[in-house]
Amino acid sequence: MKKGSHIRVRGQVQGVGYRPFVWALAHKLGITGSVLNDPEGVLILAYGSALDAFTAVLSEQAPPLARVDAVELSDHLFAETPSDFVIAPSTGEGAKTRITPDAATCDQCFAEILDPNDRRFGYAFANCTHCGPRFSIINGVPYDREKTTMADFPMCAECAEEYADPADRRFHAQPVACANCGPRCWREVNGVEEQGDAIAATAEGLRRGEIVAIKGLGGFHLACDARNPDAVARLRERKHRPAKPLALMGPLDTIRRHCRLSPDEEARLQDPAAPILLLEKISDDLPEAVAPGQTVLGWMLPYTPLHHLLIDTFGGPLVMTSGNLSGEPQVIGNEEASEKLGRFADAFLMHDRQIARRLDDSVERITAAGPMVLRRARGQVPETLPLPQTFADAPQTIAYGGQMKGAICLVKDGLALLGHHLGNLDDALTYEAFLQADRDYAELFAHDPVLAACDLHPEFAATRHAEASGLPVEYVQHHHAHMASCLGENLWSGDAAVGIVLDGLGLGPDNTVWGGEILVGDYGSVERAYYLRPAPLPGGDQAQSEPWRNAVMRLDQSGHAAFADSLFADRPVETLRRAAAAGFNAPPSSSAGRLFDAVAACLGYCPGRQSFEGEVAMRLEAQAQGQNAGDSYRFAIEGRQIDPGPMFDELVFDIESGVSDAMIAARFHRGLAQAFAGAARCAADEAETRTIALSGGCFQNRVLTEMVVEELSGYDVLVHRKVPANDGGLAFGQALVAIARHMDRQ
Ligand code: ZN
Ligand code: ZN
Ligand code: FE
Repeated sequence: MKKGSHIRVRGQVQGVGYRPFVWALAHKLGITGSVLNDPEGVLILAYGSALDAFTAVLSEQAPPLARVDAVELSDHLFAETPSDFVIAPSTGEGAKTRITPDAATCDQCFAEILDPNDRRFGYAFANCTHCGPRFSIINGVPYDREKTTMADFPMCAECAEEYADPADRRFHAQPVACANCGPRCWREVNGVEEQGDAIAATAEGLRRGEIVAIKGLGGFHLACDARNPDAVARLRERKHRPAKPLALMGPLDTIRRHCRLSPDEEARLQDPAAPILLLEKISDDLPEAVAPGQTVLGWMLPYTPLHHLLIDTFGGPLVMTSGNLSGEPQVIGNEEASEKLGRFADAFLMHDRQIARRLDDSVERITAAGPMVLRRARGQVPETLPLPQTFADAPQTIAYGGQMKGAICLVKDGLALLGHHLGNLDDALTYEAFLQADRDYAELFAHDPVLAACDLHPEFAATRHAEASGLPVEYVQHHHAHMASCLGENLWSGDAAVGIVLDGLGLGPDNTVWGGEILVGDYGSVERAYYLRPAPLPGGDQAQSEPWRNAVMRLDQSGHAAFADSLFADRPVETLRRAAAAGFNAPPSSSAGRLFDAVAACLGYCPGRQSFEGEVAMRLEAQAQGQNAGDSYRFAIEGRQIDPGPMFDELVFDIESGVSDAMIAARFHRGLAQAFAGAARCAADEAETRTIALSGGCFQNRVLTEMVVEELSGYDVLVHRKVPANDGGLAFGQALVAIARHMDRQ
């Protein structure tokens, strides 16, 4: 018997070129034996004199898309000395096999498509084990070409050779393709395919000011020349999208000309996840209509060869906004695109690889407190999240999330899988996508839940779906779920923590509407320690879209009814007051989001309706950005209530004195941060904890987040990084709360 090593590698190590990496390393170091994929990950049996060096490299290095959780070492006895190092056939069912997210074009593939001597020169669908489509093309498991939308494209001899060669970068790359055998793209105008170079013609059209619908990785975009004010205006007009910021795509040096870029931001843009990153503007060269009233722009790098070739040929930045009808999800099918986007687009850049599931572009930003995810989708799902140790034996659980930013979450094997952003479940097509996600994830991850979690709100589509699942249902209060999601992603396990949850709206256990909360507790239960003094939410849903309604209620409440009268003279203020006084469709609400709306309305932002959720809050943040507040507005603490009354006294005074919007916005942000941080410190001292978690949609606001973190210095402040602070992260928190309660009962 010959003594060698048994090396177990766990993590995201399949479908990412891990075996060829091991194979090449073994050959370099003269190691013999084998490597294979099995349900646990990768298993290596190794023999040779350089075993120490071999295992050291395995612990320290990995291919770009691999995520190694553990390298476990034990002895292995070989009956006879292995003569070679081989990649052995996979064993077992791939139940634990992780599916990787889609990854942006790697440097090597990028170099190849620009190299006239390479056989993939100019090829829009080049990819390898280090990059390319993954989750967006997968129809089933195990992850083989036949179970992807690449099944339509049999490999040519040359591609097959690369696929079979362990020394090749395309060894077992399921989507491997070239111009001879793979997908192709074409330009289409009025339903007719044009002959010739589709990318050159598309670039030419964009230069002429065309709006082009472009089929990408996870869906269609609508694109136009970002430097052309007419084109941008036309795009907004056709899409009926007056103000919501448009995403941009361009190469790094272009982005650097328009926005400040820290090293962290630069690295994040270049990550294989290739998210849209919100970056601070430093020039006004692009038309204001790209992001009206904003101090940040959302940029992404080209992330597929098609995008690279197009940007390269076009030679400038493009607006790349999602191709959809208002309120509907992004379009993914060619026919659907012709039907729905035809009215917006002058031309199409189509391709013939099907998109298995819609994946929007992810959106992130980096603050002084670290990176944060605003929308979790392409490039990030289905990466799993580790759970706190106390959840190691958690039963398989499914959580269905909220209503506005639908996303589901699966828990299995001590890991959570927070699904991709779906959108507002009020929309029928989005709800269909929600049902598809539920079926899809269950199949892809061999998930067999014994427990379902959802929001307390009985009218949410996700809640009703949970109730129809036949599983025991755990109802989780909205802001408890937010807090738990932040605790969980920070792997917190302790006796008690404080949560500052500043949010839009969520149903409280007392049947009022919550949203400006300081909670104390743990995963299983919380108590409401402090909360924003409630004001009526007049008109229910209308109060969300019409900021002035909230302003009237808050001004009345703080003794400034006359000011409200003069400010909103053209609005039905009296009708609103009568309804609120009669308690008709005006539930009391402690929402912090609506407080932002009230303040913004006092400054005259969006006098009618907001054109998108969070519009006025974003404008308020943009005003406060970079402004030194000097002093801050004061909130009063009355028992358990945080009263913004004194704040409105000062606000009204400042407005009447002609103080700038920027100063008013900064003082409001600072005052809100101080009030909630102060109350949270009291709550932490009472509960004898040092941990304070920040969650809820308002913490997408960079200015607010940085101020609250600053006001809490000396405490262990937990912030979101990979799980959205907004309702897109709700399902993750719901799952943890449901599991904690379930395990408590056991
Ligand atoms: Zn590549
Ligand atoms: Zn080929
Ligand atoms: Fe929320």
